Amino acid sequence: MEIMGIKIPTVLKENSAAVCAGCAREIDGTPFRMSILDTIAIEAAPSFGLASPINPGPFQFCSDPACPPAWATARGWPVCQQSSVREIMRPIALGDSRHGLCDGIHRDAHEFLPA
Ligand SMILES: [Zn+2]
Ligand SMILES: [Zn+2]
Repeated sequence: MEIMGIKIPTVLKENSAAVCAGCAREIDGTPFRMSILDTIAIEAAPSFGLASPINPGPFQFCSDPACPPAWATARGWPVCQQSSVREIMRPIALGDSRHGLCDGIHRDAHEFLPA
């Protein structure tokens, strides 16, 4: 890169923006990172060769609060209606090997919208 005869070393690190996992747009500013706790392994140790069904992340999102739940729902992980979207989410077993996400902070029963 050269501006008015002055060579400017391009620093791509700073410019190569992360991409939002929800809307696939470049993230402007600091991305919101979300990780999913692997609490399934605590309940029952996975059999040999059986990987955890949930990729723990972290996943990066833009500042649009609609992106993380939209992304999770698209992957078949509904977000608990009692939960906020936080940096650490827990997988909640919904039966028939499906999972939802919840921050696990509320006291009431989990509330998942039917898929
Ligand atoms: Zn987004
Ligand atoms: Zn919940």
